Amino acid sequence: MRIEIEPCPGPWHVSHESLSAFVIVDTKDGHPVAEVLRWDGASRTESEANAHLIAASPEMLVALQVLVAHHGESGACENCKYAETVIARAKGRKAPQVQG
Ligand SMILES: [Zn+2]
Repeated sequence: MRIEIEPCPGPWHVSHESLSAFVIVDTKDGHPVAEVLRWDGASRTESEANAHLIAASPEMLVALQVLVAHHGESGACENCKYAETVIARAKGRKAPQVQG
C-alpha cells in the first residue's frame, strides 16, 4: 500500500539569496522548504528563475487540480490527461513521460 505524500501547502516564496543558493521558504511560518544551489554551470539568473519556479509550484499544483476538476470528467480530453500526468509526477507517483 502506497502512502500518499503531501507537501506543505504553501504558498512559498524566494526569501533571500545566500552565498551559494536561493532560499525558498513557507510564506506562513518562514521555515525553509528548499535551496536552489548556484553551481558553476548555471547562471545566477537561471538559478533564480529555478527558485521562483519551485516556489510557485504548490499554487501551480492547486491551479492544475482546479482546472481539471472544472473541465469535466477526469481524462476527458488530452489537456486533462496531460495535466493529470503532471499532477501525478508532482505527488511522487510513477507517471508516464509527458510531452509538452
Ligand atoms: Zn479536459
